[in-house]
Amino acid sequence: MLSVEEALEQILSRVDRLGSERVELLACLGRVLAEPISARFNIPPWPNSSMDGYALRAHDTREASPGNPVELQVVGTIPAGSVAGHSLQAGQVLRIFTGAPLPNGADSVIPQEEVQVQDGRIRVPRPVAEGEFVRPRGEDLRAGETALEVGRLIGPAQIGLLAALGRSRALVFRRPRVAILSTGDEVVDLGGEVTEGKIPNSNSYALMAQVVEAGGEPLNVGVAPDRGEAIEERLRWGLSADVLISSAGVSVGDYDVVRDALRRLGAELHLWQVAMRPGKPITFGSLGERPIFGLPGNPVSAMVTFELFVRPALRKMAGHTALHRPRIHARALSPIPNPGHRRGYLRVTVSAEGGGYGARLTGNQGSAVLTSMVSADGLAIVPPDTTIPAGGTVPVILLKPLPS
Ligand code: AMP
Ligand code: MG
Repeated sequence: MLSVEEALEQILSRVDRLGSERVELLACLGRVLAEPISARFNIPPWPNSSMDGYALRAHDTREASPGNPVELQVVGTIPAGSVAGHSLQAGQVLRIFTGAPLPNGADSVIPQEEVQVQDGRIRVPRPVAEGEFVRPRGEDLRAGETALEVGRLIGPAQIGLLAALGRSRALVFRRPRVAILSTGDEVVDLGGEVTEGKIPNSNSYALMAQVVEAGGEPLNVGVAPDRGEAIEERLRWGLSADVLISSAGVSVGDYDVVRDALRRLGAELHLWQVAMRPGKPITFGSLGERPIFGLPGNPVSAMVTFELFVRPALRKMAGHTALHRPRIHARALSPIPNPGHRRGYLRVTVSAEGGGYGARLTGNQGSAVLTSMVSADGLAIVPPDTTIPAGGTVPVILLKPLPS
């Protein structure tokens, strides 16, 4: 049976980055840049004041001291947003506000708190250094310089920088559209009547939420019964998507007809069954360019296999280079047993403990026990037939931000 690493490698080797699209600035958040952005002008475009104060010529203040301040004449005001009408002569200053362009002839600024004002003159009590409280032209970015490279993840700061460069849109890699199908005679979609022997469809909703969280766009193609033709038909509805995901019907039971349905649809199946628990029966294939994942039906198995295999694939398609969740090493706060013969991905809470982190099982680890996922902060990775004793160290894949 394939290891998780082997399966992931096969999956990622068959998944490519999608094309790009130009989108509105705020819609770039969380996306990956697909064009290099260079500065078309300097930021700031001109030297400007970093304080409210007086623009002056440093040379005029060279003899100043607290006991013998230099007196200079205020000849005008430059609020932010306007430009000085004339250039500064020896012995003159201009009232200036933060962000206003430094007038010609001035080379520095003294903050207003440092001077005394009287009758249209100021008294400067110290020598001002040339360039003091002046933000030089191009201090942040020089015209022609690369501001953001292809592959850069766009967060709030990148959006601010794009706006500062006058960009209202940017080219980013497409988000994968992901069709989600649930299968099973027992599965009733939300809004339907759940009669005896039936259960509500939870997988489609958990998986769609995982798709959104991974940066994709879900497309719900509903629930199909355990019949090949019905599954095939629903999957056809999803052919506009970049990725197809089904849940359930991939084990070895009589009603596990998903793999056959995928083949009949024309998919090539590349792998089936991975040495892990939960999630062993996962299937992966492709239909043309489209990756297809047949996830197991148990709610925890579906979510865990999504985490381990689908999420990295979606991130690769969206242009990310960091494909994986962060991992930490945590101390087991109570024993973490994996009695199975396959590697275990066990749901744990993670807490800050004495400079490091502690992990504790969330309770019943059955693959149908969705509440074990609800309280989980991470997945502890435990080798087959192994118990991590209390105090032992265990690697944990983080599903949520670290606690502090
Ligand atoms: P299967 O993989 O078809 O053997 O299904 C495994 C288990 O997952 C069964 O107990 C199913 O009832 C359950 N299951 C399958 N699909 C869903 C679904 N969409 N929502 C919740 N549970 C499901
Ligand atoms: Mg079934």
